[in-house]
Amino acid sequence: MNVLAKDKFDTLRIHAGYKPEDHQFASSVPIYQTAAFGLSNTEVANEIVQGKHPDRFDYTRDGNPTSHVLEERIAAIEGGIEAVSVGSGMSAISFTIFNVAEGGGRIIAPTNIYGSSLDEFRNFFPKFGINFDFVDDVNDFDKIKSLIQDDTKAIYVESVANPSTEIADIETLAKIAHDAGIPLIVDNTFPTPYLLRPFEFGADVVVYSSTKGINGHGNTLSGLIVDHGKFNWASGKFPQFTEEEFTLGDEESDDHESFYSKFGAAAFIKRIRVKYVRLLGSVLSPIDSYFVLLGLETISERLDKEVASATKIAEFLRDNEHVERVYYSGIEKDNSLVAKYFSKGVGSILSFELKGNEKNIAKLIDNVHVFSYLPNIGDAKSLIVNPSRTTHREIPEEIRTKHALNNQVIRLSIGLEDIDDLIGDLRNGLEKAFD
Ligand SMILES: *Cc1c(COP(=O)(O)O)cnc(C)c1O
Repeated sequence: MNVLAKDKFDTLRIHAGYKPEDHQFASSVPIYQTAAFGLSNTEVANEIVQGKHPDRFDYTRDGNPTSHVLEERIAAIEGGIEAVSVGSGMSAISFTIFNVAEGGGRIIAPTNIYGSSLDEFRNFFPKFGINFDFVDDVNDFDKIKSLIQDDTKAIYVESVANPSTEIADIETLAKIAHDAGIPLIVDNTFPTPYLLRPFEFGADVVVYSSTKGINGHGNTLSGLIVDHGKFNWASGKFPQFTEEEFTLGDEESDDHESFYSKFGAAAFIKRIRVKYVRLLGSVLSPIDSYFVLLGLETISERLDKEVASATKIAEFLRDNEHVERVYYSGIEKDNSLVAKYFSKGVGSILSFELKGNEKNIAKLIDNVHVFSYLPNIGDAKSLIVNPSRTTHREIPEEIRTKHALNNQVIRLSIGLEDIDDLIGDLRNGLEKAFD
C-alpha cells in the first residue's frame, strides 16, 4: 500500500509514511526498540552519517524507523514538507521558538495560551535573550502590527485557546506576518489536524502536544513539529539558516554548507532535527511513536463523536440555572471564525463559569463519577478540571481574568462515554454542588 498525496485525510491517517514491504509486510508499524543501528561497513557508514542513505538509521537520537513513520504520516496529513517528533508538546514549542529566534530577538504572542507556554514565554525565554510582546486579544490586528520591530522573528498563536476556545484568525495573522517577513507559528493542539489544518490558511510551522487529541488515549507524552516548507529563511533576518555549518560538509572538502544551501525549503525542520533534537535530546521513544500512530488511526471517529457530545453538553450547561456562562465557540451561531475555519466543529474541550463560589466548584468536582478529575485533555475518557488552581496556576490573576480563567471556571474535555451518562453525571454533580 503506497498512498498518494492526493489521498484524503482518512486514508492518510492510516497509511501515509508506511510501506509494509519494507518491514516484513507487518500490518502494524513495528516498534524498533533499539538505541542504535548497524553501519554495514566503513564506506557505507561514512555515507549514512552524511545523510546519503535516507532509508538507513544510525542512532535513535538522530532518527528511528517507527518515529519516522509517524513523522511522515503527520507531514502528509498536514500538507507539510517534513515533521519531527519529540518527547512532549513543550519540547515541540521550545525547540520551535529557539530555532526561529536563536541568538536573540522578539516574538509576538497572545496571553490566552497554555499555562506552561505563557510561563516559559514570560519568564524563561527572556533569560536566553528571546523576549515576547504580548497581546490580550489574539485578533487585535492593529496592535499586532504595531508591535512588529526589526528584530521580531515570528508571530505565535494557538488556533483554539485553552480553555476559552477563542479562535485565532490564522489567515489574517499569516498575512500580517508575511508582510513583515516573519513566519506564523500555530499551536494546533486543541483542534488536531482532523478539525483544522493551519497550512491551508498560510501558517508556516505547526506544533502539537500529541499527548492530547492526536494520540487520544492519555497514555503517553509526545510532541510534533510540522514545517509547511514555504517560508523564505534566507532573507537575512535568520542567520542561523544561512551560516555555514561544519557538520553539514564532509571532512575532506572545505566547503561547508548552510542549512539553507543544503536543505532549501526544508531548512527549518532539518535544523530542528540536526540541532535541537540531536543536541538537546528530548527524543520521542519508538514505543511512544507507536502509541501515537495507533491513536491517530481513529482520530476522525473519535473527534466526530467528541464534538457532537461537547456541543450537547455545552447546550445543556448554557441552560442550567447554576451556570453563569459557557465558553465553547462551537455553539456561537454568529461567530464567523467558526464558519470559516471549523466546518467539522471546534473540538472536544469546553469550559464554563459556575455561579456561587469555590466551595461549589469543589463540590461539583467531588460529586462527578463519570468525569475524571485530572489535568489533561483529548483523552477517550471525559475529564474535568479547575484550571486556575491546576493547569493555569502559573498565570497571574490579572491575565487569567481576561481569558475565562477566574476561580469559578471549570474545564471539560469530552471523551467517548455515552452522552446520557455524561450529562446525567454533570446534572447530578451540579445539584449536589448547590445542595
Ligand atoms: C498540553 C499542551 C501543551 C504541552 O504539551 P505536553 O505534551 O504536556 O508537553 C502545549 N500546548 C497546548 C495547547 C496544550 O494543551
